[in-house]
Amino acid sequence: MVETAVIGRLTWLAASVAGAVQETSRVRTLELDVPGWAGHRAGQHLDVRLTAEDGYQAQRSYSIGSAPGDGVALTIERLDDGEVSPYLVDEAREGDQVEVRGPIGGYFVWDGDEPEPVLLVAGGSGVVPLMAMARHRARIGSETPMRLVYSSRTWGDVIYRDELEPLGLDVVHTLTREQPSGWTGYSRRIDTELLSEVAWPASDSPRVYVCGSTRFVDAAADGLLELGYEADWIRTERFGATGS
Ligand SMILES: Cc1cc2nc3c(=O)[nH]c(=O)nc-3n(C[C@H](O)[C@H](O)[C@H](O)COP(=O)(O)OP(=O)(O)OC[C@H]3O[C@@H](n4cnc5c(N)ncnc54)[C@H](O)[C@@H]3O)c2cc1C
Repeated sequence: MVETAVIGRLTWLAASVAGAVQETSRVRTLELDVPGWAGHRAGQHLDVRLTAEDGYQAQRSYSIGSAPGDGVALTIERLDDGEVSPYLVDEAREGDQVEVRGPIGGYFVWDGDEPEPVLLVAGGSGVVPLMAMARHRARIGSETPMRLVYSSRTWGDVIYRDELEPLGLDVVHTLTREQPSGWTGYSRRIDTELLSEVAWPASDSPRVYVCGSTRFVDAAADGLLELGYEADWIRTERFGATGS
């Protein structure tokens, strides 16, 4: 209810595509130029609205992947049967206009002013708001320990693959569908046992952010509760009903 009231006060802003980066074969980052943008916190999202020539409109939510103070970048995964994501991933060109409304969300955010270690748990494109947190930590020079446990289908599907290490956080990959030869990392879905090997001990009272499909988020959160994590340490963001 509170979030609905806040969204009601936000107005749609005209935005234009200022740049695009192909991240994987199915994922693209769009840098948006948004005159009048009020700034955002790491972990927040916005709504994108597209209007067709005949006036038909469609809107979807997208997390902001850029650090606060660093513009507005969205990273979108193409769902082949989707209405909006194929346009954003395959068709949007520099100069194209969309509308955005945001920033939205005051719960799934990390501002970098708490001392507790941070555990980020990402499934696929769920890494996007967590990347904003990792970038924010690097940008402000925070020494808060931060670890990312990141589940992807294959090595080629790892979004931001080469950008993660330079940010100075620990990264643990698991590849659920196919692994490159010689792969020594994890090769299964995130479960309690995997988390018990890589998560901060419960005695550290870590702050946890889990993001991905609904099924992924539920599995990861259940695993963390089984490890003795308290429910109010765990913040979750669900991207959609299905997916792996
Ligand atoms: C708060 C929030 C933040 C989000 N941030 C991002 C982001 O940073 N990057 C990103 O790529 N997406 C993100 N999403 C998902 C995004 O809003 C859309 O749902 C997604 O792009 C699909 O839209 P579409 O119009 O292409 O597909 P639709 O036409 O809406 O759906 C097509 C088909 O895909 C299924 N579907 C819908 N959403 C998903 C999903 N997420 N995973 C798997 N199957 C799905 C539907 O059930 C349907 O069968 C976010 C969602 C929320 C709620």
